[in-house]
Amino acid sequence: MSARILDGAALAQTIRTELQPRVAAVIAKRGRPPGLGIVLVGDNPASEVYVRNKLRAAAEIGIRADLERLPASATIGDTLALVTRLNGSPAHDALLVQAPLPAALGAGAAQRVFDAIDPAKDVDGFSAENVGRLVQKRTGPVAATPRGILELLDRYEIPVARARAVVIGRSDIVGKPMALLLLHRDATVTMCHTKTRDLPAVAASADVLIVAIGRPAFVSPEFVRPGATVIDVGMNTVTDPVVARSILAGNRARLDRFEARGSILVGDVHPDVAEVAGALTPVPGGVGPMTIAMLLASTVLAAEGAWRAERR
Ligand code: NAP
Repeated sequence: MSARILDGAALAQTIRTELQPRVAAVIAKRGRPPGLGIVLVGDNPASEVYVRNKLRAAAEIGIRADLERLPASATIGDTLALVTRLNGSPAHDALLVQAPLPAALGAGAAQRVFDAIDPAKDVDGFSAENVGRLVQKRTGPVAATPRGILELLDRYEIPVARARAVVIGRSDIVGKPMALLLLHRDATVTMCHTKTRDLPAVAASADVLIVAIGRPAFVSPEFVRPGATVIDVGMNTVTDPVVARSILAGNRARLDRFEARGSILVGDVHPDVAEVAGALTPVPGGVGPMTIAMLLASTVLAAEGAWRAERR
């Protein structure tokens, strides 16, 4: 059996097209496009790529996205001051601070900064207030990656209600909000992490298995019940030829790409899982594009006033 491929790239394109008339409606009503402010502190190379992709995707559908940079030497005070300025900006409906922040800002800096964002502009949903709203199943912005995964499951008509869902990974940005979204949709949810006993057996109980751990090709076929849906959130850059060859064996095209570039992006799920799973998201082209599409959707929602109305 070979899994159905859940094409996040194509679906993200559909979602962007669907957003265009809503962007036009915001412009007609407010005389300006939806506005997104992105704060980038320091020069983390991966963050540079993520931010560039967000800026490009926003521009493509007419969202105004402004990058506000601070140097790696910036203090927590500088960062909070920038967030405060953007909170007050009439041109920006939505605001995010790209993680990770430089370690020099100190432990707990990221949460302090997230908590400083106006909750109605907090498009990533990382502030304590918006996490609380998610826990209570109230309207508010929700982290883009888990929201994108739920959208992908829905659009491919993969049942969530009553499904056994297993989420491997318990981060604040993926695993925890993912589990809550699935729970609110009546899945029976199990969360796994590094201390989980018998992880392959627990994972193999899932109808829907979500993997967000950051370990290249960690999830092998023994983790997967035949026919299960597997969502691979991992984005891991592999540079070791031995590792790359063991993961990509049999995929000549991707091996050639690795040999040419010296690195390759792989997920947390081994490609052999495609022989067992019923449906599978590819890496690249699965969850990644959906994350960006959901960021755009949330920016449009913010511009439409969705979360301000809720607070009145
Ligand atoms: P994270 O903050 O590093 O958290 C990783 C989680 O995975 C932790 O809860 C950890 O457990 C668990 N874990 C790690 N190794 C494990 C193992 N061997 N067995 C079981 N659990 C294990 O990671 P994250 O930010 O959630 O990101 C996870 C992956 O998703 C990364 O590859 C990241 O690049 C990718 N990502 C992709 C997107 C996208 O748009 N496609 C968005 C966000 C993240 P403990 O809590 O016990 O340590």
